[in-house]
Amino acid sequence: MSRRSLPVPDLFAAACDHDRAALARLLSLLERGDDEARQISRLAHPRSGNGYLVGYTGAPGAGKSTLTSATIGHVRSLGLELAVLAIDPSSPFTGGAILGDRVRMQDHATDPGVFIRSMATRGHLGGLSLATPEAARLMDAVGKPWTIIETVGVGQVEVEIAGKADTTVVVVNPGWGDSVQANKAGLMEIADVFVINKADRKGADETRRDLEQMLDLSDLPHDAWRPPILACVAVDGAGVPELWDTIGRHRAFITDSGELARRRSFRIREELREIVARRLEQRARELTGGSRWDELGEQVVARQVDPWSAADEMLAGVIA
Ligand code: GDP
Repeated sequence: MSRRSLPVPDLFAAACDHDRAALARLLSLLERGDDEARQISRLAHPRSGNGYLVGYTGAPGAGKSTLTSATIGHVRSLGLELAVLAIDPSSPFTGGAILGDRVRMQDHATDPGVFIRSMATRGHLGGLSLATPEAARLMDAVGKPWTIIETVGVGQVEVEIAGKADTTVVVVNPGWGDSVQANKAGLMEIADVFVINKADRKGADETRRDLEQMLDLSDLPHDAWRPPILACVAVDGAGVPELWDTIGRHRAFITDSGELARRRSFRIREELREIVARRLEQRARELTGGSRWDELGEQVVARQVDPWSAADEMLAGVIA
């Protein structure tokens, strides 16, 4: 039987047994977001909770994929396994994507200790904001101890996704203070670690001063984690071991303080809320398509029924 036709539980068992093709297939099914995606979620959820999720985000061209690739090299040199999910909503890929544009990452394509995948969401109810945590959970459930999620930190949704990692690394470049492209306020809010990448270019010190100043103004409680600012040159790997150490320090800090458990609990509740909201939205769309809807619409237009009463009637049976 080919993998395409294997049932989800068999695929899941194979993925847990380090079968990369099975894992890739599961991700494709998750992206599609139909019944099989729900089945995957049911299998993955109880087995998750041991992996650690790191988010890399920043403006396009900041060097995220170069930095991710250098991180993979470093993490592998430590003998650790990891998964990388590159989330690019503007990507032309539509599922089953190969990292064709991420040439550097292909250095790692044949390493069995690394699983790299670019994600797109064709039909998933809730799009990226729901498909991403599902994918991260799947990586966790099949035994990946570390997952890096790489997103472009431009729009609100992407910044929110990046902010849902256990540790969020915000990648900026010298001259960031002048850039108009990045969602700066959003990025300041989610950063646990700042990386000034392309530190080989001039202006890195000034950018560090700007960031320190912004952090001074941000009113952190005195016992809180203050996001460290690191300098990296991702193209030659400089600063990457320090970055990985810092991620480890942040992990230890939030584990000890209880913040990790709080973050995860908040995240999963938010996800639950979002699922409920999306399903109600979907139901509303279904309701507003039928003949009863047309009839009620006409009655509202003719002022025989007011809009609130008409809505009550449509919702009867949906919301008690
Ligand atoms: P992404 O869009 O954030 O993923 O950025 P990429 O990783 O694709 O990098 C964008 C460009 O910046 C590429 O041409 C990289 O070679 C270059 N780049 C990445 N890191 C550095 C660095 O540390 N120094 C310099 N000078 N160039 C870099």
